[in-house]
Amino acid sequence: MRLYTINAGHFKLDGGAMFGVVPKTMWNKVNPADENNMCSWAMRCMLIEHGNYKILIDNGMGNKQDEKFFSHYYPHGEDSIEKNLAKHGFTTDDITDVFLTHLHFDHCGGSLMREGDKIVPTFKKALYWTNQKHWQSATSPNDREKASFLKENILPLEESGQLRFIEAADGEEWLQDIRIRYVNGHTDAMMLPQINYNDTTILFCADLVPSTAHLSMPWVMAYDMRPLDTLREKYKLLNEAVANNWVLFFEHDPVNECCSLQQTEKGIRVKEIFPLSEIDERMGIAPVTEK
Ligand SMILES: [Zn+2]
Repeated sequence: MRLYTINAGHFKLDGGAMFGVVPKTMWNKVNPADENNMCSWAMRCMLIEHGNYKILIDNGMGNKQDEKFFSHYYPHGEDSIEKNLAKHGFTTDDITDVFLTHLHFDHCGGSLMREGDKIVPTFKKALYWTNQKHWQSATSPNDREKASFLKENILPLEESGQLRFIEAADGEEWLQDIRIRYVNGHTDAMMLPQINYNDTTILFCADLVPSTAHLSMPWVMAYDMRPLDTLREKYKLLNEAVANNWVLFFEHDPVNECCSLQQTEKGIRVKEIFPLSEIDERMGIAPVTEK
C-alpha cells in the first residue's frame, strides 16, 4: 500500500460557521479571517494505491459550478486533483474507486465535470462509493443542509451507473486494511476511512475533525446537524486514537496534513505535525511497542 496527499485546492468558509460556539477572539488566532470574516481551508484528498486499486478519498468541489457559486467560496491556490495526481504519475483515468466520505459539495463536487452541456463522471473508469443511509438524506435533504447537497453533484452519479453503496458495518473492513467508521453528528452516516498502513493506523477525519483546531472538544462546526453527537463521536474516536497511537489526516486544515496525538491536562491535543509523505520516516523512528 502507498498513500499520497492529493490536494484539490483551497476555498473559503465563514469563520463563525466553521468554529460554532467558539468566539472569534479565540479562533482568529488559529485561523485568521479576511475582511469578510472568511477563513481559508484546504480540500485535501488522499490517494490509496493498494494492489490493483487506486482509491481516491473525496475530490474537492470541482469546477462545474457557475461564477456566482464560486464567488461565495473563493477557490484559490495552485492545487488541483489533476495536477497532484500527475505529480505522482497518475491521471483521472487511473482511479479505480472514488470513496466519498459524504456528499457535501466540498467533498464530492470533483466527481463530475461538464462535457458540452452534459455532466459526466470525471473518473471514467471508477466506481463511486457512498452508503444507502447517506444517499437517502442527500437526495431528500432537510432545509438546513440543502445548500451543501447540490443536485448536480448527486443525480448524475446515479445516472452514470458507476455509483455503489458500501455495506461494511461500523469498524468493519471495506477492503483489506481499510475499515469504515461511521459518524452521524455532522451529517447522516458520514464515513471515515481507518487505514492500516504497515503497523500504523491513519484516520481520515473528513468533517468530524476538519482541522487541528477542531481537536478541542467544544470546537464543533455550526454546520453540523447534531453537534452533541459530534461531541460524543469525537470524544470516542480521539480517545481510541490517542490510546493506539493513530495518525490523524486533516481534510480541511489550511496547512497541517497529519498529526500524532497526546493526552494533556486540557484534553487530547497535537503531539507532532507532519506531512503524509513523512509517515514512513516517522514510523521508522516511532518506538515499537510489541507485546
Ligand atoms: Zn461536510
